[in-house]
Amino acid sequence: MENLADKLHQEFFRIVSDVGFETNTKVFVIGGYVRDLILERVSKDIDFVVLGSGIAFARKVAAKMGSGVQAKYFKNFGTAMVRKDEWILEFVGARKESYRRDSRKPLVEDGTLDDDQKRRDFTINALSISLQKKDYGRLLDPFNGLDDMNDRVIRTPLDPDLTFSDDPLRMMRAIRFSTQLDFEIEKNTYRAIGRNKNRIKIVSNERVLDELNLIILSDKPSKGFLLLEDTGLLKIIFPQFGELKGVEVINGNAHKDNFYHTLDVLDNLARKTNNLWLRWSALLHDIAKPVTKRYDPKVGWTFHGHEFIGAKMVPRIFKFLKLPMNERMRYVQKMVQLHLRPIVLSEDHVTDSAIRRLLFDAGDDIDDLMMLCEADITSKNDARVKRYMKNFELVRKKLNEVEEKDRIRNWQPPVSGEVIMETFDLKPSKKIGDLKSVIREAILDGKIANNYEEAYKYLLQLAEKEGLKVKKLVKNPEKE
Ligand code: ATP
Repeated sequence: MENLADKLHQEFFRIVSDVGFETNTKVFVIGGYVRDLILERVSKDIDFVVLGSGIAFARKVAAKMGSGVQAKYFKNFGTAMVRKDEWILEFVGARKESYRRDSRKPLVEDGTLDDDQKRRDFTINALSISLQKKDYGRLLDPFNGLDDMNDRVIRTPLDPDLTFSDDPLRMMRAIRFSTQLDFEIEKNTYRAIGRNKNRIKIVSNERVLDELNLIILSDKPSKGFLLLEDTGLLKIIFPQFGELKGVEVINGNAHKDNFYHTLDVLDNLARKTNNLWLRWSALLHDIAKPVTKRYDPKVGWTFHGHEFIGAKMVPRIFKFLKLPMNERMRYVQKMVQLHLRPIVLSEDHVTDSAIRRLLFDAGDDIDDLMMLCEADITSKNDARVKRYMKNFELVRKKLNEVEEKDRIRNWQPPVSGEVIMETFDLKPSKKIGDLKSVIREAILDGKIANNYEEAYKYLLQLAEKEGLKVKKLVKNPEKE
């Protein structure tokens, strides 16, 4: 694969080449786009390296690309971004980098193509394609990246200790690429990660998190987590997760290793959904098992309340990892807290009120919760897996039936706070909320039906017991 000209279908490659010719400037495609082109992966981000000013070059390209082009120029960085349709073209002058010990931000000076290829993280990311007229499409591969791609190997172009020490984020990137592409990390490169792991501390949490999320979004995330664990990076970047590893044995009774179990759950889920937050829920569903673990001589190992304690741990973990402290965190908390509920339902005799309660607590996320629970079945015993799956089918059926009947998802009790205030001439206060929740509980428990008349009657009974005086009987406002 010496020449890739016939793979450069887009018209803009020719335009870039023409601008290079007209301005007597050498220009190359470089990095991830070249890698993905060879691996036949879809990529719409293209990096161009220019032997000269990236900004001046990009201005000429943008002018030739016609309508619908957006261009941005970043003078401070000497880079330019040109967008058209779904394509993002980035132009930058070739660079030479040198690093200081305390920072992953290099000192940058103008360089040659060779300098620019040397500063790349891996051989598979250091390939470039010439866009000069005389050898348009020629692959320039100084570090045998093509061989590494064929052998499915991640390797640094220079001494790996230097590469990782200069910019420790590259250790995360090595593991991320290995996971995404299902490549192996070459032995020396891999050992250097272990030696340089502590350098990861100079990288911002946000950058580490970006890589971690890409690992989690891979087809088989367990691969990345096993590498993070084995190299010692996991203990530094996400120690709470590392705590799950290990098996204790008392009187010959061992519990399962929750680290491997969690990774199985995550892989199972990854086959069903790309929802990053549901994948995070899988990662954290058993996070409180180490702190709730007890040994009871009669029943063996227990992890009582790990779903509640786990939900409580979620905000701290999100804060530590710089994950968003918003509704996404609350979603993960909810999933962690509820992850045993469908299992309990499938084991017990399933009552309508238990189903209703689950529908109410999970709301619109009920399908996600069921998906998580099914992924949580990691038994190696086929008969058992079949039984669990059948039980879940039953739970799903029941959920549908009760939802049809009661419309409980995102439901509000039929008697509103306004109605309560008007009835007893009360000002907004905690009392109103308390009365509302007693009514809600009664409906969820099936003590009264889910309609205004019964709920209002129940409210009046409650009020009488509490000595509240009725000021005015209020009719169902929905029917007015
Ligand atoms: P993806 O699009 O999957 O994130 P990518 O390789 O395109 O993969 P980018 O982060 O866009 O990732 O980087 C583009 C190119 O820049 C890389 O292919 C690599 O050559 C170079 N690069 C990026 N980050 C680093 C780094 N930390 N150290 C050295 N080179 C890097």
